[in-house]
Amino acid sequence: MSESSAKAGKVEKADIVIVGGGLVGATLALALTRLYPVAYPRRIVLIEAAAFSPQAPGTAQHSPSFDTRATALSESTVDVFKQLGVWPLIESVAAPISLIHVSEQGRWGATRLNAEEQGREAFGHVALNSGIGQALLQQLANEPGVALRAPWRVKRLQPVPQGMDVYGDGDAEPLRAGLVVLADGGRSPLLPSLGIQASVHPYEQVAIIANLEPYEAANGRAFERFTDDGAMAILPLCEHQGRPRVALVWTRPAEDAGRVLQLSDAEFIRELEVQFGERLGGFRWLGERVAYPLSRQIVREQSRHGLVVLGNAAHTLHPIAGQGFNLCMRDAMALATHLQQRKEGESPGDAGLLRAYVSGQQTDQLWTAMAGDVLLSVFASSSRLVSRVRQAGLISLALLPGLRHRVADFGMGKSPLNATRQPSQV
Ligand SMILES: Cc1cc2nc3c(=O)[nH]c(=O)nc-3n(C[C@H](O)[C@H](O)[C@H](O)COP(=O)(O)OP(=O)(O)OC[C@H]3O[C@@H](n4cnc5c(N)ncnc54)[C@H](O)[C@@H]3O)c2cc1C
Repeated sequence: MSESSAKAGKVEKADIVIVGGGLVGATLALALTRLYPVAYPRRIVLIEAAAFSPQAPGTAQHSPSFDTRATALSESTVDVFKQLGVWPLIESVAAPISLIHVSEQGRWGATRLNAEEQGREAFGHVALNSGIGQALLQQLANEPGVALRAPWRVKRLQPVPQGMDVYGDGDAEPLRAGLVVLADGGRSPLLPSLGIQASVHPYEQVAIIANLEPYEAANGRAFERFTDDGAMAILPLCEHQGRPRVALVWTRPAEDAGRVLQLSDAEFIRELEVQFGERLGGFRWLGERVAYPLSRQIVREQSRHGLVVLGNAAHTLHPIAGQGFNLCMRDAMALATHLQQRKEGESPGDAGLLRAYVSGQQTDQLWTAMAGDVLLSVFASSSRLVSRVRQAGLISLALLPGLRHRVADFGMGKSPLNATRQPSQV
């Protein structure tokens, strides 16, 4: 768009443009419809590079966020989904976690965390990302305050005094936003093009994910198992066509990923059973295997005038503690609350408002990332000393209810700093 037409007022405008309609961008859009005072419809625009049909998540054309991965939703995340009115849709495709079984291959000592024992119905729920995506998109399709734009890939962001100009593929004219929320997952070139760098720590591991049919139903049991060269989580899923299903997340050294992916289904199941033991009676069916290279990626600047970075684009964590999305949810709700509480006439892209949001979240972000890394170094180490500590840790977890509560609280997505913290009220 030329300067002259911009001056002539032909630029399309929006209050808030969310770039990236993955799990985090879509959730924020929904939260804003509840929290952000909309004076007239369609002032929030959600842009997604992939196709956006609520009927077809999990397909190749769909957002890569809504794939066959399963996400463990903490109790606090479930509470937020309830407040946003989308929980009934997600619950219909989610399985509760009522027991967490933590063990270490070849060592004595296992810990069982029981939700009932702690006076809770469940520690959290597990749902396939495709199911969560479908629910979010269905809900958003009925929200007049949000304009969905997909497939539409943002190519360039241009800071302007009013906020940020957003250019799509081949667009001559921008969409002018008071605030751009960058929730593009951090792999697009938009952050570096704005001169915003991230500190990246590769773990030299991959997470191999697959869904499996066990011989015995998991019935709410989640398993976390540590081996000398990785960790695995087996999470309960909803039945599929009357047959039990579980989701596997298996971290392997990066150099072993190619071999593991090329094993036949029968060989893969055999190797998994050797590491996992005889729990669930073994496995009779294996779905598609996908490998995710793992790194910790923390952006160095989360906000500027007219811009805030959210979701994996702001911080990508190791999935071992299942905290990535749960942390993003806490961020998204905190951002929506700051935007709700902004002063009369204040732009949503106001630098001070965005700084206040970031500084309010930084400690939670830092501690969540650190806690995951500590867990990782303790359980991934093969040193004899650490192994003893690890073993003692598992035993004391089993013996000390207080300690178990703290681990469970962390596992349920409560901030490690403040286990009694509640999600924002809508
Ligand atoms: C194996 C694995 C298991 C995990 N398990 C858990 C778990 O149990 N619990 C948990 O809390 N977390 C878990 N996580 C973390 C969680 O999956 C992420 O935190 C979450 O998916 C981040 O979502 P996002 O929307 O920020 O990013 P993404 O999912 O990457 O979505 C970004 C979206 O932006 C779109 N996009 C990109 N560039 C552009 C552009 N230029 N224009 C328009 N759109 C664009 C993409 O198409 C995509 O849809 C796990 C992660 C992995 C890898």
